[in-house]
Amino acid sequence: MIHGMLHEVFRKCGKQNCKCTEGDLHGPYPALSVNKKGKQKIVMVKKSDRPTTVRKAKRYRYYQQTLVRIRKINKEIDSLLEKMKTETVSHYP
Ligand SMILES: [Zn+2]
Repeated sequence: MIHGMLHEVFRKCGKQNCKCTEGDLHGPYPALSVNKKGKQKIVMVKKSDRPTTVRKAKRYRYYQQTLVRIRKINKEIDSLLEKMKTETVSHYP
């Protein structure tokens, strides 16, 4: 897994007579938003790294989404266990 949100970036190439000067930008190119020294930055993924990096970033996103779902389910279970305790446990005498 690779930490970072995956983005698709469109760019101008800088050539004067290119279609991108008319707004038809090049891309999409994969990029990652990463946290560097407390600041969010968009980092372009090198062409040679694209297949592996995109796959690993998608796996990280899936992991994060799954973690959110599991934490929500755990909260529900905890709440139900508390409810069960309140409704069934009595004190002696
Ligand atoms: Zn161009």
